[in-house]
Amino acid sequence: MANRPTVARTVSSLRRALMPFRRGGERIALVPTMGALHRGHLALVEHAHRRARHVVVSIFVNPTQFAPHEDFGSYPRGFAADLKALAAAKADLVWAPSAAAMYPEGFATRIEPQGAAKAALEDKFRPHFFGGVATVVTKLFTQVAPDFAMFGEKDYQQLRMVTQMAKDLDLPLEVIGVPTVRESDGLALSSRNAYLSESERALAPTLYRVLKASAARIKKSEPIEMVLEQGRAEIGRAGFALDYLEARHALTLAPIASRKDGPIRLLIAAKIGKTRLIDNVGV
Ligand code: AMP
Repeated sequence: MANRPTVARTVSSLRRALMPFRRGGERIALVPTMGALHRGHLALVEHAHRRARHVVVSIFVNPTQFAPHEDFGSYPRGFAADLKALAAAKADLVWAPSAAAMYPEGFATRIEPQGAAKAALEDKFRPHFFGGVATVVTKLFTQVAPDFAMFGEKDYQQLRMVTQMAKDLDLPLEVIGVPTVRESDGLALSSRNAYLSESERALAPTLYRVLKASAARIKKSEPIEMVLEQGRAEIGRAGFALDYLEARHALTLAPIASRKDGPIRLLIAAKIGKTRLIDNVGV
């Protein structure tokens, strides 16, 4: 069995654990997660190993990115299983602070990202979300001071927001996007897939199927808005409550009217029963 990674629970023990990594001037890659780890997270760890000698994985279910009506309380948690998976994936250090270590009494700072974070996609349905993510990610970056930070394309708007923020704030690290890991039927792996009933699980791959079919038609120069309208109707007929299906500029996430306007990303969010799923593909 692989060695268990060191677990740091306070900022001072994290600093101590990072010291030997720094001493040799070796590179560090950070993989921020909320735990309940699956093969998608482990792909980020694998990509981190390709970039850096030392891999730090943070596990923190960040309360400030959940609205009061959202699933913070019931979000899947399984630290023992996560640790076992990270031992097998050869992570060097797990940064798992308590909420009190991350947000001590009197904490009073919030980062409010603009640009991609205000693209009227996730932010329209979760207005508190990117401020919470940007604040915690900035803290993780200053705590760990990594050379690389790995983020999944699965959360595409988040990847664009973090990339922009690192640039705008001159953060001395490179944000790396990692392709989405999927089940064999196309469903993007997500900790929230655990919420799906058997019948919802059977329907869930519809999102990816519609994204792929729409991307193929847009590539063949069919009118974007017509393709999207038909995709939206299909999602509705399958029994989802659609939040959005949009074609956006792949870097800025600005609305896009034709293929000439730049590289295109299709992004979708929809609810099946009580579970909200998101996905995206490049055209
Ligand atoms: P989470 O724990 O859901 O906050 O995700 C932590 C990181 O893992 C984020 O950068 C996600 O984009 C990434 N991630 C989640 N699911 C997948 C997946 N299926 N494939 C690749 N990366 C993923």
